[in-house]
Amino acid sequence: MSEKSAHEAHMSKRERTPWFADATMPGQRDRYQLIISERISGREVTIPAFVWKGNEPGPVVSITAAVHGDEINGTGTIRSLISDPPFELLRGTLVMVPVVNLMGFERHSRYLPDRRDLNRSFPGTSGGSLASRLAHSFFTQVTRHCDYGIDLHTAAVRRTNFPNVRADMSKPALKAFARAFGTELLIDGAGPKGSLRRAATKAGCLTIILEAGEVWKVEAAVAEYAIRGITNCLRYLHMIDGEPIKPAYRLETDSSRWVRATGGGFLEFHVAPGDIVHEHDPIATNCDLTGEEVEIIRAPRDGIVLGMTTIPSVAPGDPVVHLTYPKQGSLSRIERAVDKLDDDSLHERTREDLSRSFVVTEFDEDPE
Ligand SMILES: [Zn+2]
Repeated sequence: MSEKSAHEAHMSKRERTPWFADATMPGQRDRYQLIISERISGREVTIPAFVWKGNEPGPVVSITAAVHGDEINGTGTIRSLISDPPFELLRGTLVMVPVVNLMGFERHSRYLPDRRDLNRSFPGTSGGSLASRLAHSFFTQVTRHCDYGIDLHTAAVRRTNFPNVRADMSKPALKAFARAFGTELLIDGAGPKGSLRRAATKAGCLTIILEAGEVWKVEAAVAEYAIRGITNCLRYLHMIDGEPIKPAYRLETDSSRWVRATGGGFLEFHVAPGDIVHEHDPIATNCDLTGEEVEIIRAPRDGIVLGMTTIPSVAPGDPVVHLTYPKQGSLSRIERAVDKLDDDSLHERTREDLSRSFVVTEFDEDPE
């Protein structure tokens, strides 16, 4: 099936009248407060939702951030979109929620006050735990009314990720949407049980996630990357004018693995997120606190650095670098594409920006 017909087949099955269908008029931008939960004191927990409508009908797309309350790169991205919209919405509806997990966000925490992970609680139930009820409330008020979703995440605490999109690539319309976002790295998979993207996709709101950068930060390159991706997706759906920008290269894979420290020590990194590595390349030198070498951690296979730890002190078994593996023989094609990039391309600037979270040194194969 072509990408266009996959999208049309998906849309033809969608029949619903969202609550904002009559509330927000064509061509308008409105802000709502959604009642999402209740505090111990009995006061309501509300979250802002921005609904923008084009003059013409079209798909309904949600952009969500901080489902994990400490992952605020997406919150910064949505703030930029709202304060300085880089496009004019012509068709369809955009629903933007800058903070889904407000109770985690207020405590700078991934989790809800009941210590549950909201992103393992979807679609939720009205009679379940706090997390399950909140998930259900959000899912009912937002997700069920949307045709597509973009959920913005970062790496977990103490780690960083090169921007990558994750989606269930077995679904043709979702695959086309994920590709349109325009990240170089696309990780195939349905997502963990209870995650928003998995439950949303199952309910007909085809959802991708972006995993980019670190917790507790709004990183300039990451926000720019996210805005470019969102713009690309809206272009693909013809909600705004223009053609999606293609990535420098495209690696679609379901194969990735953490390389771990064998012994405890203090790392000197030789790679940064987004770097290409060959089998046996040194990725970090692990020394004890006297400077005595514990081990040189090397790449087990050809791959690309999807993510890594930002903390140089490691215990045995601690994850150091998350590598994603391209198909046999495709690394040279990727290397050629990256070689052609200008230093001021977004790909290169993102690589540069993300590498500032730690010291990266050249490895000396034959020290004196
Ligand atoms: Zn997350």
